[in-house]
Amino acid sequence: MKTPLDQVAEPAPPIRQPLLQLSPTELSSWLKDRHFQPWYAKAIRRWVLFKRATTFEAMSDLPKALRTQLAESFVPLATQTALAQEANDGTRKLLLKMWDGEDIECVMIPDHARRTACISTQVGCGMGCVFCASGLNGVMRNLEPGEILEQLVHLRNLLPEEERLSHIVVMGMGEPLANLDHLLSALEDATAKDGLGIGARHVTISTVGIPVKIRRLAETGKQYSLAVSLHAPNEALRTKIVPTNDKTGLAPILEAADDYFKRTGRQVTFEYVVLRDINDKPLEAQQLIDILKGRGAHVNLIPFNEVAGLPYRRPTDERLNRFVEILRDGGLFVHVRKRKGSDINAACGQLRRQHRQETPHEPEAIASELPA
Ligand code: SAH
Repeated sequence: MKTPLDQVAEPAPPIRQPLLQLSPTELSSWLKDRHFQPWYAKAIRRWVLFKRATTFEAMSDLPKALRTQLAESFVPLATQTALAQEANDGTRKLLLKMWDGEDIECVMIPDHARRTACISTQVGCGMGCVFCASGLNGVMRNLEPGEILEQLVHLRNLLPEEERLSHIVVMGMGEPLANLDHLLSALEDATAKDGLGIGARHVTISTVGIPVKIRRLAETGKQYSLAVSLHAPNEALRTKIVPTNDKTGLAPILEAADDYFKRTGRQVTFEYVVLRDINDKPLEAQQLIDILKGRGAHVNLIPFNEVAGLPYRRPTDERLNRFVEILRDGGLFVHVRKRKGSDINAACGQLRRQHRQETPHEPEAIASELPA
């Protein structure tokens, strides 16, 4: 009879690293160490990013020995599709499972010739905006650059061969500027000619508004579009809806947005979630004109997507139309966001929440991301 001491533990399977976690330089050194030509790094990444390979075996122009060694050390994609949904309007949403069991959402939104990927940057969100499903349980962790990039690869792989992603909106779960370095690194590959080849001007980063980080983004010299989530035209109301406003204040956010425009030449968009009876009255429309006029500002109105368990409502059509009319008469450029994928819970954080059957609790803000 075997005693516990006789039992030999099964050798643990080697841990394979996510391929896209390595920079091209790191992959080149890995190749050099194994006496392969370093320039294979480019070819390997191209297979995943451009030629849609999901196994090393499929990389048919690489030496067999290299493919075998790659398969022993790496996984081409480390995230796995846990759930895929398609809405009647063609919007497709994926729930991706990561190595630690956490999951994140990403969405592909087709609109005429556009193929827009909406991606997440964090598991959950620490900003605590009162109406948002992503932040209901706070932030769990930042996504790694490879995890951000893999969302794009998975979404692109859903498209027919002749189609490619044309736009990116960083409007999924999380606060992008709270994970700026990882986002920038992923966007390098997304915008590189030998990466996913998406034009920098077709990338929109949406932020709750963190002035120091907005300036850092401007200093990168990249041509990314910036969208600032305003949601209220005065300090008191904004602090109620967007708790981080308590630390940042509205005026410094508007100044940072102005600097972004000056430095990059890119017009900043202001997002405004319209919540019934909270920020949808003529008074708020007038105040919004007062703070934005003279900026040639573009306002993106987002009628609230209702979230189960939260008390907020969409505005009535009448209120919304009146709001739009006042803003336009006041000289602002206004766009009302069309509802996409509404039959599949496409608003951020909703699918994940439903999947996990989470119960809402008090959100927490990450104070460390905000100036004291
Ligand atoms: N943290 C970033 C990205 C959030 S998602 C930011 O604050 O900008 C992108 C936009 O969708 C934000 O303006 C966000 O406030 C908004 N949003 C979140 N939940 C929503 C909902 N249920 N209905 C409508 N808009 C929502």
